[in-house]
Amino acid sequence: MSEYDYSIFWEETIKQLREENEISDQEFNMYFQNIHYVESTRDTIVLSLPSRFIQSQLKQRYINIIENRLLELSGLNLTLDFIIENRLKESEKSSPVPVEQHETEQIEISPHPQLRQDYTFKTFVIGNNNSFAANASKAIAENPGSKYNPCLIYGGVGLGKTHLMQSIGNYIHYNKPEMKVVYIPAETFINDFIESINTKKQTSFKNKYRNVDVLLIDDIHDLQDKKGTQEELFHTFNALYDANKQMVFTCDRPPSELKNFADRLKNRFVRGLNVDLHPPNYETRYAILRKKLEDKNVSISDEILELISQNIKTNIRDLEAALTSIVAYAELVQKEITADIARQQLKQFFSSPIQSNITIDKIQKQVSEYFNVTLSDMKGKKRTKQITFPRQIAMYIIREITDYSTTEIGLEFGGRDHTTVMHSCQRIEDRMKTDSTIEPTVQELIRSIKET
Ligand code: ADP
Ligand code: MG
Repeated sequence: MSEYDYSIFWEETIKQLREENEISDQEFNMYFQNIHYVESTRDTIVLSLPSRFIQSQLKQRYINIIENRLLELSGLNLTLDFIIENRLKESEKSSPVPVEQHETEQIEISPHPQLRQDYTFKTFVIGNNNSFAANASKAIAENPGSKYNPCLIYGGVGLGKTHLMQSIGNYIHYNKPEMKVVYIPAETFINDFIESINTKKQTSFKNKYRNVDVLLIDDIHDLQDKKGTQEELFHTFNALYDANKQMVFTCDRPPSELKNFADRLKNRFVRGLNVDLHPPNYETRYAILRKKLEDKNVSISDEILELISQNIKTNIRDLEAALTSIVAYAELVQKEITADIARQQLKQFFSSPIQSNITIDKIQKQVSEYFNVTLSDMKGKKRTKQITFPRQIAMYIIREITDYSTTEIGLEFGGRDHTTVMHSCQRIEDRMKTDSTIEPTVQELIRSIKET
């Protein structure tokens, strides 16, 4: 196997282009179904395809959008190269190496002291929101320190950052026991650092973090404002990077949005591979609930799982909390739970928590400021693009993070009808599917609205 492996970028590219309908189902069946990843060299991805015809179609129709997307995802100028299949000897076909599970080895190797045993790839459900991050994590776990170093996993709370990061740790711990894996929440890293200064044990602190094979630091946004610790991490980073040791970081936001953070450290985080986690869609939410039930070995009716999946859209932590509460209730009353009882029980989870300090007015102001339009235009009748887009974004955010009804929202936007509000929100949802810049913008706005 060559030292390069860009298969995850190829797979993600095709997946994204299909989702965006740049490649329709029909086109996929016609051209892409029989194209397979073979290997990577430094700057090419080699694919096998069944005929010259497919090759020329691919070159004429798709090569540009594919190579552009590869550049976006990997930050590398990757080009495609082709092999026609019958010329490829059986033995040369690369089959993806499955990630092995470690059950058999678990007997001899004791659990890693800092890692949760249930945070493994096996218990991690791959869905629309996380497949790129999950595939990248598996690739890192199989080959730590060689490619994708460092790796930064980012996304909002409860979306699976810690679970993925610890899965990498556990996999390496069980499959490459000679490697020293250290997992640490950034907050503990800060405290350890301060402690080392107070007790004059800086050298032993340095040794502790620089003599590792795999360093996993969770929630690096906690290092905001912590200049001294940032400095120390910068040196730790350089030492590990030069020694080809694997580093993985998680963060609750894109690094560009970290405040009071040394640029040179930020630049180091984004140097390798950056992958983000999104909120799961309905199917993924349902699949995760099913998996959690299997692991818990209890049964809850499909109807109730559907109910939870439909109502809890925020993140997986909330999804789990709702499920746990239903399971606990079922055990308590010792009987099958009906959908009505479940609905009653889950009330508190379904109503999105009202943050009483977040008003419609406040959101309108912040969004208009962000887009540099006036508040009166935001609420007014003008329908130019420059104004309708911020207006729709504001409505969308109000729907997302407050409990105001569409009727109430309409009133605050110059007495618009509730169907207009619904339509606007739908419009933003639709646009998010084709324009990948919208979701980060919305997330950034939500964060700043919640922070002020
Ligand atoms: P974060 O670190 O991003 O805040 P966590 O990794 O702590 O989120 O995940 C929150 C909870 O959701 C954990 O219990 C985790 O096991 C679960 N979880 C998240 N994503 C998945 C997934 N894809 N499959 C199964 N469980 C998941
Ligand atoms: Mg976490």
